[in-house]
Amino acid sequence: MSDAPRSPANRLGIDYRHPPARRWSGPIVDAHCHITNCAPLSTFFEAADLYGMSRFVTMSPLPDVEPLRRTYGDRLIFNAVPSFRDLRATDEFRGEWMRDLTTFRSLGAPLCKFWMAPRMRGEHGVTVDGAWARPVVDHALDLGFEFMIHVSDPVEWFAPGARYADAARYGTRDAQYDQLEWLLEYARPRRVIAAHMAGSVHDPDFIAELMRRHDNLWIDTSATKWIARGVALAPDRVCELIIRHADRVLFGSDLVVRAQFTDFDHYASRYWAHQMMWESDYRGESPIDDPDGPQPPRLAGLTLPQETLRQIYVDNARRWGFID
Ligand SMILES: [Zn+2]
Repeated sequence: MSDAPRSPANRLGIDYRHPPARRWSGPIVDAHCHITNCAPLSTFFEAADLYGMSRFVTMSPLPDVEPLRRTYGDRLIFNAVPSFRDLRATDEFRGEWMRDLTTFRSLGAPLCKFWMAPRMRGEHGVTVDGAWARPVVDHALDLGFEFMIHVSDPVEWFAPGARYADAARYGTRDAQYDQLEWLLEYARPRRVIAAHMAGSVHDPDFIAELMRRHDNLWIDTSATKWIARGVALAPDRVCELIIRHADRVLFGSDLVVRAQFTDFDHYASRYWAHQMMWESDYRGESPIDDPDGPQPPRLAGLTLPQETLRQIYVDNARRWGFID
């Protein structure tokens, strides 16, 4: 071991340039990522190619769509998003969001995303079932979109003293789900992907119950630290959930391609960790720093059956039209 400082993406000094042998040899669709047109783009694609990614459903900013299509067009599907970071609950922001949805749709985007983390409610009073967002939802339905939604956030963030401890402001953890269930009913029979294992990877029974009640609810596996933490908590129960509902689970990484992430290991580490979780029987430390969980961070492999890997990597993506 050298004394060189380890990257937060590689606390174990793994050689990500030599991926472990895959148990799946077909195409893989990353159904949840954020690709922006910035300098590390080629580094991201270098990692993605090495780990077998064929197609990407990306939440790219609208101005980046055309430049990205020029270079990577046949590999990218766009998930329509506004800049949620700049969201203000004003008529102006909403009007621009709706115009952008029209443009995204004309560029072929099949779905649009509502980022409804508790912060939206706490800082802007916005939930997807609220009055302010309704015209956006209606417009998206008129345009023919299906949906992705981010509800809730890691359970650790609701603990006393944590960022969402003030339930009067952010809502309780349970209360986050009213808007998901509302959207599932309102948009029916359109499909809704609840990102990040529906925001409840720590509680597979809760997810299973939601999926039982709503046959238009899908989940994706996106986020790495968050999902790895939850999977390591109850590997057998998460495994059972994914196998039982394998016809409504999409693989996703939640990788964010951003100028500040210049490091190959940053991108490769997420694909490495996901491969280990779904394809291997690895039990041990995670190579990725995780300040929100027990130390050292854990990673648990589920050795999903071949048939399940086929479903979550490619077959289900095909049913969404993400790949031929
Ligand atoms: Zn995301």
